[in-house]
Amino acid sequence: MRFGKAFIPTQKEAPKDALLPSHIFLVRGAFINQVASGIYNFLPLGKKVLEKIENIIKNELDNAGCQEVQLGFVTPCELWEKSGRLAKYGKELLRFKDRRENCFVLGPTHEEMMVELVKNRANSYKDLPLNLYQINLKFRDEARPRFGLLRGREFIMKDGYSFHADHEDMVREFKLMEETYRKIFEKMGLDFRVVEAHSGAIGGSGSKEFMVLANSGEDTIVVCDSCGYAANIEAAKRAQPEAPCEPPEAEFCKFFTPGVKTIGELSDFFKVNPYYLVKAVAKKAIYDDHEEIVVFFLRGSDELQETKALSAIGANDLVDVSEEELENAGLVPGYIGPFETEVRVLFDSSLKNAANMICGANEKEYHMVGADLGNIEAEFADIIEVKEGDKCPGCGGKLLLTKGIEVGHIFQLGTRYSEPLEANFLDENGKSKPFVMGTYGIGVSRLIAAIIEQNHDEKGCIWPKSVAPFEVDIVVSNIKDEEQKNFAEELYDRLRSASVEVILDDRNERFGFKMKDFELIGFPYAVIVGKSLKEGKIEIVDRKTLEKTEVEKDKVFEYLTDILK
Ligand code: ATP
Ligand code: MG
Repeated sequence: MRFGKAFIPTQKEAPKDALLPSHIFLVRGAFINQVASGIYNFLPLGKKVLEKIENIIKNELDNAGCQEVQLGFVTPCELWEKSGRLAKYGKELLRFKDRRENCFVLGPTHEEMMVELVKNRANSYKDLPLNLYQINLKFRDEARPRFGLLRGREFIMKDGYSFHADHEDMVREFKLMEETYRKIFEKMGLDFRVVEAHSGAIGGSGSKEFMVLANSGEDTIVVCDSCGYAANIEAAKRAQPEAPCEPPEAEFCKFFTPGVKTIGELSDFFKVNPYYLVKAVAKKAIYDDHEEIVVFFLRGSDELQETKALSAIGANDLVDVSEEELENAGLVPGYIGPFETEVRVLFDSSLKNAANMICGANEKEYHMVGADLGNIEAEFADIIEVKEGDKCPGCGGKLLLTKGIEVGHIFQLGTRYSEPLEANFLDENGKSKPFVMGTYGIGVSRLIAAIIEQNHDEKGCIWPKSVAPFEVDIVVSNIKDEEQKNFAEELYDRLRSASVEVILDDRNERFGFKMKDFELIGFPYAVIVGKSLKEGKIEIVDRKTLEKTEVEKDKVFEYLTDILK
């Protein structure tokens, strides 16, 4: 490719709303451009990177025995009704009607479509296992599309679905996919962690996420400083904390606490560690067909983890409630307690058998002291958010928090979709059974941004060789100098015949201008054909370190093919 003929309209200005380096450099470097909020075009350089990423993914998946298909992007609502997800998915699902008033959605994920494809086509256990995938557009009408390709509304995903005769075989495939994903992300030169995850709207049991470590990541991950434990904060567990001090023993009775509402105020008032206070967090839970107020009780020293809370009560969403709504439900804001409430309540597991606690009395200005939760008839679940310094559930080591970008997510689905969609096969005994399934996603377009979040400096992108749009940029310092021009052309041809991906910057522009583009776009190496050619020398610049190496002009080809190996 010749730079002079290529469509690479780099720009000086960053988009106004761009905060992250990946967003800024991918737009400035002419990889992508924004069409509408969360919707992007890919320019030639962006398309090249995308293809390289896709090829790495395809090669590894094909090696693991997966087969590529392509499903329709527009999917009938009917399928979503059958699986029960039409209501659950909420506003992220873009619905519309065709001219005959048939309802469709733009696919945000394709479990329903894939099950429908396999159903009645794979009929016997002999046809299993199957692992089918596609690399295709997805649409999610995200509430807050941002950070360029990191959180788009239209984006590219690799989504794979596997079909098995039994649970054991699905678990085997799940492990194979974990290994395969590790290889994929290693090939892209990423620093990542595999973490235990929450399964979200996709459903199913065990799931793991692949997190690219980056301060700009939207996900918080919990890692142990002593063992391999790592989990998304939405799924992270801790060893039950030890009591920080002796409990505040008291007779069970009502106590006048005027104006004392928050955990901080209560702790000051009684001079009691928040560990011995019962915190009430009231939320409105939204279900398919109704909404209700739910009160979550936890220790005053803990915070509610909303994703855990959400799945513990099986709701679609949790939203804040006003004081007025609380009063209408018979609750007393600031004084909500676990005894005799009329709304649904859920206790954190660490409150099981908790004694000598102080809690709200469900009466204005009053709290209860000496409360014993040992006899309380209620549901308990792990609903707290792990904090930095909590103890590891596996080894007791110290838990640390870091940030990550989710680039992959694999799920053990079981029969969550095959059952409602009646997708069955005949087992060895001729008995009809629903497929046992797994599902495996990779954020393909998000990966482009994640790679740059990990590989950039203040000048621009620094592409790892495996995904760079071109490996080498030959920069001719002065295109009017015949000797420079001829040398560059010859090297360009030779490298191309050796299958090196090379771009020749033959533009009639200042040298500094061309080097700025090299640094912004981030090709791994630049070959500078300049004044020193007269002395038989060429300079090679390593984009990562910006170090220059002088090489004899006759040795440049070997030097390059060597470092690119
Ligand atoms: P997130 O928690 O980031 O919203 P998710 O858990 O909803 O993602 P999955 O349903 O697991 O996403 O989708 C599989 C993969 O698709 C994710 O691991 C992620 O890499 C990618 N992905 C999801 N949503 C987006 C988006 N809005 N823009 C770009 N990539 C996305
Ligand atoms: Mg996910």
